[in-house]
Amino acid sequence: MSTIPADDTYSKTLFDGLPEFLPGWVWLVGGGPGDRGLLTLHAVNAIRQADLIVYDALVDAAILSFAKADVVVEFAGKRGGRPSPKQQDINLRLIEQAQKGKRVLRLKGGDPFIFGRGGEEALGLVAADIPFRIVPGITAGIGGLCYAGIPATHRDINQSVTFLTGHDQTGSMPTALNWDAIAKGSQVIVMYMAMKHLKSITEKLLKAGRNPKEGAAIICNATTPKQAVLVSDLDRIAEETEKSGLAPPALFVVGDVVRMREGLDWLGYVTHNKKLISDPLSSSRS
Ligand code: SAH
Repeated sequence: MSTIPADDTYSKTLFDGLPEFLPGWVWLVGGGPGDRGLLTLHAVNAIRQADLIVYDALVDAAILSFAKADVVVEFAGKRGGRPSPKQQDINLRLIEQAQKGKRVLRLKGGDPFIFGRGGEEALGLVAADIPFRIVPGITAGIGGLCYAGIPATHRDINQSVTFLTGHDQTGSMPTALNWDAIAKGSQVIVMYMAMKHLKSITEKLLKAGRNPKEGAAIICNATTPKQAVLVSDLDRIAEETEKSGLAPPALFVVGDVVRMREGLDWLGYVTHNKKLISDPLSSSRS
């Protein structure tokens, strides 16, 4: 893999006019779901200029190859089952380093504002009077579905999609959610952090009247070389996931958009020459 030299023509065309990372600033940047090809130009522009990069577990370490030779890189995610550093400690680190005049890049998985605590970190900067910028990223619930060949919306199936989390801050199932309303009102559900409570979540959805034979999928390590996708029916997905040994990070998708994978698994087609069918909805109904 090659680093783009700072002085070549590509860099000039690509990065000219993008913001300069000034000393003493913090940039909160979404790194996308894993595949470095899903970084934005703003993200790469930030990585190239940063003095300090504080990154999370879910961002591909290869993207650090765009960085300056003397960049300092710190890991702030979960490692080996140990809890991640406290949010407050991360905030203090960002503030302290910015106050020392460093260009501090806080690189986050997916999009900083989607279940990513980007708001909390930014408010910490506001409180400490640190200038900052926020760069959106491709969130796992959009990019991950695309790499699984599952469209988040498809005209024949849904006109809305609901994103939710299967955990709250304490690690329990979110009590603020009205599961009944979600089951009845969401055509397609895309759930982050659903693995821990998958069984209880599917039971809640079924109890609220969701069709047991509706399509359901688990997408693990989406957009990375370790991507794995399990497709099943809603009433069987929890058991099959357990049997499969699939582990987080994973997305849980509920809805018949999952059936579209038989026609749209472009990655399976590209990597394994998988045969795709052009009418996945009619074949799954027959
Ligand atoms: N801000 C991130 C989400 C952080 S919460 C974003 O916008 O994507 C972390 C959760 O995101 C994981 O538990 C998982 O549910 C999901 N996730 C992140 N990256 C993923 C990936 N590559 N594959 C599957 N799920 C992923």
